[in-house]
Amino acid sequence: MKKRTRINVLLAEQPIGETVVVKGWVKSFRNNQFISLNDGSCFDSLQIVVDRDDVEEKILKQITPGAALGVKGKLIESRGKGQSVEIDAEDVIVYGPANPETYPLQPKKHSKEFLREIAHLRFRTNTFGAIFRIRHAISYAIHQFFNEQKFYYLHTPIITASDAEGAGEMFRVTTLDLDNTPKTEDGKIDFKKDFFERETHLTVSGQLEAELGALALGQVYTFGPTFRAENSNTSRHLAEFWMVEPEVAFADLEENMDLAEKMLKYIITYTLVNCSQDLQFLNDQLEKEESQKPKNERSAMSLLDRLQFCVDYDFARITYTEAIDILKKSKPNKKKKFNYIIEEWGADLQSEHERYLVEKHFKKPVILYDYPKNIKAFYMKVNEDGKTVRAMDILFPGIGEIIGGSQREENIDILLDRMKEMNIPEEELYWYLDIRKYGSCPHSGYGLGFERMVQFVTGMGNIRDVIPFPRTPGNAAF
Ligand code: ATP
Ligand code: MN
Repeated sequence: MKKRTRINVLLAEQPIGETVVVKGWVKSFRNNQFISLNDGSCFDSLQIVVDRDDVEEKILKQITPGAALGVKGKLIESRGKGQSVEIDAEDVIVYGPANPETYPLQPKKHSKEFLREIAHLRFRTNTFGAIFRIRHAISYAIHQFFNEQKFYYLHTPIITASDAEGAGEMFRVTTLDLDNTPKTEDGKIDFKKDFFERETHLTVSGQLEAELGALALGQVYTFGPTFRAENSNTSRHLAEFWMVEPEVAFADLEENMDLAEKMLKYIITYTLVNCSQDLQFLNDQLEKEESQKPKNERSAMSLLDRLQFCVDYDFARITYTEAIDILKKSKPNKKKKFNYIIEEWGADLQSEHERYLVEKHFKKPVILYDYPKNIKAFYMKVNEDGKTVRAMDILFPGIGEIIGGSQREENIDILLDRMKEMNIPEEELYWYLDIRKYGSCPHSGYGLGFERMVQFVTGMGNIRDVIPFPRTPGNAAF
């Protein structure tokens, strides 16, 4: 049984009367007659009608949920309701049965927590099929967007010797025998004997390297895995996640914000156009979940409305200082409902504050910029006030921070002063400083947390549900 046609193609082209071959996994088998077969190509399954006289009893018994089948038969207009076409089976092959006694996926709704325990099988469910098709589409849209904008895709290293950025705790990379580490004279581990002859870690960001690329190629972006050993078990943090980091020469903070807003809208529009069926399913499923919540906890908009809304309206843009004023005067701050009460300028915003601004005050995505320099990274350009830096964070409903970015400090003397202030060793970053010595120029960039984007588009509350194999504290078995 060769030359299979994918079900998405059959449903789109509907070559009625032709004999076709389909291969996929059984969703259900009703009345010993109707197979619902899904091959992952699209949300919809195809109905296969089997005539008991044509198919051996032994094979019929193996048609159970999860089994892998090949089916050959004629595509006909459906005689029943619920689908436009179906296959009249002439021949059925069982490639791999799935013992119904032990197959973990039952034809009922499973909790996401349960499915996380069997993440190797959750791809087979409607929900995760939809999520991972959408994840693909978002990734594709990102490459398409930057290609259209004439950016170059730059691959930055995953193993790095600089731990200077301070974006988060790092994972160590070593080939030393941990039971018997070589020591220096003063008793410390001698990393000169390690593989790279120095301490190395997994990268937390490709930005520093991307800056070097941007100051030659003009505009580049990275899109790769990043790692943070932060022991935070939240619904928005992973130990291994993917980050998209554009970096643009001669761009200031405002152009940086414009690029980010344009990119986010492009991605959302792309999924609305290309993933309508998967999105509709997730939308309807979330509506059902919402309707079971008490009225005051339900979200005001459906998933699809939320996505459209983000495309249709300009994001709010306010300074950190304006945000602090709004938060100080806000009800939850006055009534001490926030876990962290905002008392003065300079406070780092927690996700409860970010979400208040987005969900309660502005009711749309917000770009916060000009943050106090003390709570931001050393490479951000200091404003004329000497107190704030040209940083911007984009905050999204239900997610909080989805993007963090800035205009970079291009003046070598100011940058060196900032590094001294923040105890960042100059020697380690000589290669980063060199672009400020030779042909430096204003430049800007940002990092988009790819999984947070997928979370927003799919409406998933937990980041572990939008990455195929989540890595979190205590979890790396498969
Ligand atoms: P947060 O305050 O939410 O931890 P951050 O300020 O540490 O984020 P950045 O260092 O600016 O984040 O990283 C850029 C983007 O990467 C963030 O805006 C976010 O979308 C994403 N991100 C950061 N940390 C994680 C993580 N542990 N898991 C998934 N995405 C992350
Ligand atoms: Mn963080």
